[in-house]
Amino acid sequence: MSKLSVRDLSLTGKRVLLRVDFNVPTEERDGHTHITDDTRIKESLPTIQFLREAGAKVIIMAHFGRPKATVNLKYTLRPVALHLSHLIDAPVAFATDCVGAVPAAIIAGMHNGDVAVLENVRFHAGEEANDEAFAKELAALGDVFVNDAFGAAHRAHASTAGIAHHLPQAAMGLLMAKELQYLQGELSAPAKPFVVILGGSKVSDKIGVIKALMEKANTFLIGGAMAYTFFRALGIPTGKSRVEADKVDLAKEILALAESKGVRFLLPVDNLETQEISATAQPRPTGLVSPAKGISDDWEAVDIGPETIERYRHEIAGAKTVLWNGPVGIFELAPFASGTRAIAEALVASHAVTIIGGGDSVTAVKQFGLGDKVSFCSTGGGASLELIEGKVLPGVAALTDKA
Ligand code: ADP
Ligand code: MG
Repeated sequence: MSKLSVRDLSLTGKRVLLRVDFNVPTEERDGHTHITDDTRIKESLPTIQFLREAGAKVIIMAHFGRPKATVNLKYTLRPVALHLSHLIDAPVAFATDCVGAVPAAIIAGMHNGDVAVLENVRFHAGEEANDEAFAKELAALGDVFVNDAFGAAHRAHASTAGIAHHLPQAAMGLLMAKELQYLQGELSAPAKPFVVILGGSKVSDKIGVIKALMEKANTFLIGGAMAYTFFRALGIPTGKSRVEADKVDLAKEILALAESKGVRFLLPVDNLETQEISATAQPRPTGLVSPAKGISDDWEAVDIGPETIERYRHEIAGAKTVLWNGPVGIFELAPFASGTRAIAEALVASHAVTIIGGGDSVTAVKQFGLGDKVSFCSTGGGASLELIEGKVLPGVAALTDKA
C-alpha cells in the first residue's frame, strides 16, 4: 500500500509537524557545541524548503543523543536550530520544550513559511515509550504530520509513530519517499542480474538480510570480517581473523541454502593480512586461499585481496541492480581501505541502479568522495537493514494510506 506524500497535502497556512533526523555528530570545543557532520540536516532541507514554499508553518521535531528521558542540556537541539538557520538563510525559532505552553506560544506567532525547532523529544519519557498522552500533546501543536526521519522509522516512538494517529493526515517527506522508492520500490522486483555485496563486521547482524535477499539476488559478493566465518565453515584457515565461532553452523546453512536455490555466493579468493592494526601497517596479500592454505597463523585478514577485487569488479560490471551493505575491509585505516574503495569505484563505473544500504558503507563511500556518484545512499543504518529484510517500519506503517 503506498503512503500519502507531502506533495499530496494542501499546505498553505497549515501548521506542519515535521519529524526529521537531526541526530548529528558533535564535539565540544572552546565551550561551544560544534556540529562535525551536518549531512543529516542537509538531507532534510528539500522537505523543509518545499513546505516553506508551499506556505506552511514548519514545526520541526527531532531527537538528539540519548538523554534518558530527562532534561539534559548536553543534548539540546538549540545549536542544531542555529545551524539550520544558517543553512536556509532565514530565522529559525527555538522552543525550549517540545510540548505545552512554550511551543504553543511560539507557534501562535508564526507566519506562513516560518520555521521553528522544538527541543529534543527524548527529554520526555513519553517519547520512547510511545505514550499516547504525550503523542496527543505533540499532535495538538499542529494540523498535519510529515515524517522525514527515515533513520528513526524502525522505532515506534511518539514522534515517529504515535503522533500519526492523532492527526487527520500523516504523510512521508521527500527524503522518506526517496528512501522507500529505492530500498522498497527498486528492490521489490530488481532488474537482473541483481548483485548483492555484503561485508561488515558480523554475519549475525546480516542474517535477516541474507535470507530475504536469497529470494531475489542472482549473486552475493561477500567481504569484510563476516567472510572469515564462512572460511571457517569451509575449513579454510582463518589465522587471527575475526570469526564468530557460534555462527559457523549458520554459515554452513547459508552456503547450502544458496546452493539449493542456485544463487551464486562468492567469497574472497584472496585477502590482505596483517600482524598490526594501525594506520602505518603494511598488509601483505595471502595469495589464493584453499582448505590447505588460508590466512597465516598469527595474521589477521583485514581486506579483500587484488584477485578478489578483479572478480568482484567483473560481477558488478555485469549487473543491472547492485545493493551494497557493509565495508569489505577495515576501511577506517588507509592501508586496509583499498578493497572498499575498489568496490565503491566499481559501483560508480557500472550502469546498474546502485544502492548503498546505510551505516558504515555509506560513510566509506562519502569519505572517498563518491557519495553522489551512485544512484542512492541510504541515510538509515538500522532502518535500511530492517526494510531490506522485509520488516514493517512503524514510522512508515503509521502514515496515511493513499486512497
Ligand atoms: P554497515 O554499517 O555498513 O552495515 P557494519 O557495521 O556491519 O557495516 O561493519 C562495519 C565495520 O566492519 C567497519 O568498522 C569495519 O572496520 C569492519 N570490518 C570490515 N572488514 C573487517 C575485517 N576484515 N576485520 C575486522 N573488521 C572489519
Ligand atoms: Mg555499522
